[in-house]
Amino acid sequence: MARPVPAAAAKEIVVVRAAAEAVRRGHPWVWREAIARGRGGGDALVTGSEVQVIGEDGSDVGRGVADASSPIALRMWTAGRAPIDASLVAGRIASALALRARLFADGRTNAYRVLHGEGDRLPGYVVDRYGPVAVLRVDGDGALARMDAFVPPLWDALKAAGVCTLVHRSSVKGAATPERATLRGEPAPDALDVREHGMPFVVDLARGQKTGAFLDQRENRRRVGELARDRRVLNLFSYAGGFSVAAALGGARHVTSVDVAANAHATAQASFRLAGIDPKQHAFAAADAFAFLERAKREGQRWDLVVSDPPSFAPSEKARARALAAYRTLHRACVDVLAPGGIFCAASCSSHVDATAFVATLDDAALGTDRLRLLELFGPPPDHPTIAGWPEGRYLKFAVLA
Ligand code: SAH
Repeated sequence: MARPVPAAAAKEIVVVRAAAEAVRRGHPWVWREAIARGRGGGDALVTGSEVQVIGEDGSDVGRGVADASSPIALRMWTAGRAPIDASLVAGRIASALALRARLFADGRTNAYRVLHGEGDRLPGYVVDRYGPVAVLRVDGDGALARMDAFVPPLWDALKAAGVCTLVHRSSVKGAATPERATLRGEPAPDALDVREHGMPFVVDLARGQKTGAFLDQRENRRRVGELARDRRVLNLFSYAGGFSVAAALGGARHVTSVDVAANAHATAQASFRLAGIDPKQHAFAAADAFAFLERAKREGQRWDLVVSDPPSFAPSEKARARALAAYRTLHRACVDVLAPGGIFCAASCSSHVDATAFVATLDDAALGTDRLRLLELFGPPPDHPTIAGWPEGRYLKFAVLA
């Protein structure tokens, strides 16, 4: 583990003008190609070390943490020459927690994002809270190298906010489920009951994806609950059934959940029971969503509310064109099984597809009809804050059409 380099010893690098401007607008990343030349000896950056970024005109841009192997060479923490020291880190963590204390003061939600990495100006550190358990995910080797310095102030703040356990989840390439280690506090349970806006659901901490749940869809799940009354609902890419439980509690006549991951359906069914709904009155299909839609269309099955929340189609800029085409195909297939008067909710979590581009995949030509209008378009919720100068951070889109 690399020790944080003392502030005075921060290596200086010069970045090209466009990169300096982007960072000044709040963009938290410096791409490797943007580094103009090394200064203060040697070009190699040490992963986890603090780096002073200088503009081509010699002005101070800010300080970031280096990653020797990623295309993102630096993740920026401060502006000017401010050092990345213990008091800065503790202050940012405190500010992140204070925001959540305000957002969730009504006590009806105890599952939320405590730290949103770059969005909370804490690049690379993401923490989701599930009641008494906090789950940390670290993005990038720079943040990982500094984890020993990050965890103590994080734990102090979380403990003061009532957290009993801090878990680290890391995705190991090739592993079926992410690895998990208890960093502080009591051993974490395998599963946990939590609630959002009063709606109860089960989180699979041992086998679940990411930190266990997709908390960024909270407000959209609530919206679906409001729209679902008396409707037959199809929830595609349902994972642990968040939209399904919301729809069922909202008075849906019947809910069909579709996901390739069969174990996610077990969690969804546990959530149905926890919410007082008999899962046997509803349908759970372990299937590929595209194949399911094709067959349903052929068989003449129709739904009054269709929710589509696929995994990211565009993890990189290169994959963008293909992703846009895939969204068009998926959206057409969803509308093909939409009953007259039906509502279509289409989500995207691809960071390389912005809201304008995503809405364009829902145009009349894509959907093959002129009977749908765009009613609402939502972004990420406030516990997933974004930075105005960092468009990629606003990855979540949720469109409601009818
Ligand atoms: N809507 C969910 C989150 C969805 S995450 C929520 O609110 O919590 C995306 C899900 O899509 C994952 O559970 C993954 O297993 C599933 N998935 C990925 N590819 C799929 C495919 N081709 N067909 C069906 N499900 C798929």
